[in-house]
Amino acid sequence: MYDISGYYEAETVAEATALLAKNPNLRLIAGGTDVLIKMHSGQIADAELLSLRKIKSLNTIRKAEDGTIVIGAMATFTKVFNDPILREMIPILTEAAISMGGPQIRNIATIGGNVCNGATSADSASSLFALNAQLKLEGHQGERLVPIRKFYLGPGKVALQPGEILTEILIAPDDYQGFGGQYIKFAMREAMDIATLAVAVVCKLQAKTFAEVRIGLGVAGPTPLRCLEAEEYAKGQEISAQTVAEIGKLAVNSAKARTSWRASKDYREHLVEELVQRALKKAIVNAGGEELV
Ligand SMILES: Cc1cc2nc3c(=O)[nH]c(=O)nc-3n(C[C@H](O)[C@H](O)[C@H](O)COP(=O)(O)OP(=O)(O)OC[C@H]3O[C@@H](n4cnc5c(N)ncnc54)[C@H](O)[C@@H]3O)c2cc1C
Repeated sequence: MYDISGYYEAETVAEATALLAKNPNLRLIAGGTDVLIKMHSGQIADAELLSLRKIKSLNTIRKAEDGTIVIGAMATFTKVFNDPILREMIPILTEAAISMGGPQIRNIATIGGNVCNGATSADSASSLFALNAQLKLEGHQGERLVPIRKFYLGPGKVALQPGEILTEILIAPDDYQGFGGQYIKFAMREAMDIATLAVAVVCKLQAKTFAEVRIGLGVAGPTPLRCLEAEEYAKGQEISAQTVAEIGKLAVNSAKARTSWRASKDYREHLVEELVQRALKKAIVNAGGEELV
């Protein structure tokens, strides 16, 4: 049922990267909610697992002195949802966290596993895209920072080099301070379900205009993505229902929607246009602007 040929536990990142350098067959396991499903279905066989669960340093969420928000890769979705810093500073991520799975899954599934699994439907992804998150990857030879937009390479494919571990997710102060945001997960049902479309929007206002708008989409293409054309258009535009409608239309140009059993391409594009507008209207209010009718 679970074809496991070896199981190892590391207590520090250095220990984990050293073990990975010695044995390239090791497969990382965090909460196991994706890995174990793949093992159960036979997609992963003869697995040698390296667990990150005992590495305490990966389980913290903090605000650094320069205001950067630092989220440990092993933080569970329950922890992300309950964290007071994230709730106050970047609620679009805590909204995404509570929309994910059910309580049992949220108690064990980690944000790092969600990102490294490489799924376009990952509930954390659209918010992290909209927040310009940077990923700290550590290997035996050292560490590097990768913007999340460069991390997703294709369905289930991410830019982790052999032997690397995602240790932290960083959000710089310039990317969240002064912004209001909104996350919307559209699924076939309210209870535990994978998104048909996920939209995360943040915006910063300047008097009656948009200073900046960032739009992250999940399940609008093979990987999560940003709506750069719509974002570029928004800069300096007057905050009005017409501008928001145009931003919604332009967002569709960035989507690479396809038909699946969950929804047709046309329906997903309709959702992009509609939900980007809804999310942006709420984000405007959350950024201190007036409600648009
Ligand atoms: C019933 C059920 C419901 C679900 N509902 C949702 C949902 O609503 N929304 C959603 O987004 N997902 C959902 N999922 C999918 C899954 O729970 C998430 O993707 C979860 O966040 C994965 O995290 P994990 O810690 O369990 O990862 P794991 O399964 O341990 O790992 C996932 C992948 O990431 C790698 N990995 C893990 N941590 C690291 C790291 N720090 N560095 C490098 N590589 C790493 C692993 O090697 C593996 O390839 C659901 C799963 C189940 C079983």
